[in-house]
Amino acid sequence: MTSDPAARLRSVSLRVTRPRLAVLAALRDHRHIDTDTVIELVRADHPTVSHQAIYDVLRALTDAGLIRRIQPAGATARYESRVGDNHHHVVCRSCGAIADVECAVGHAPCLTASDDHGFVIDEAEVVYWGTCPDCSEGI
Ligand SMILES: [Zn+2]
Ligand SMILES: [Zn+2]
Repeated sequence: MTSDPAARLRSVSLRVTRPRLAVLAALRDHRHIDTDTVIELVRADHPTVSHQAIYDVLRALTDAGLIRRIQPAGATARYESRVGDNHHHVVCRSCGAIADVECAVGHAPCLTASDDHGFVIDEAEVVYWGTCPDCSEGI
């Protein structure tokens, strides 16, 4: 997938607007950031873009599949622009740091359930919980 934000918007038939470009740029430079951080980054460059506009953009981009929303249990939702590969995440119980984890068993990550119970499965979400290096240092 191209990293050019305007081309990515056009590839899913979304109009190219300044708030959408700004959100995509923020997510290209920062991974796994929450809504408040997206707002902070976008408004640093574009002070006139409203909070509501950014919420709307996040929803539209998520619905279009350009960004991925992840929400570990008990944590605030984070967004990332790495989509389509169904990679997993490791989350620190202490500080909430998140890192990407490649799928453990090759391509089409983990979509073959041992028993699908008749469901048509299109996504598997794996979250590894633990303690990040920074937080485990003092233990
Ligand atoms: Zn930590
Ligand atoms: Zn990720």
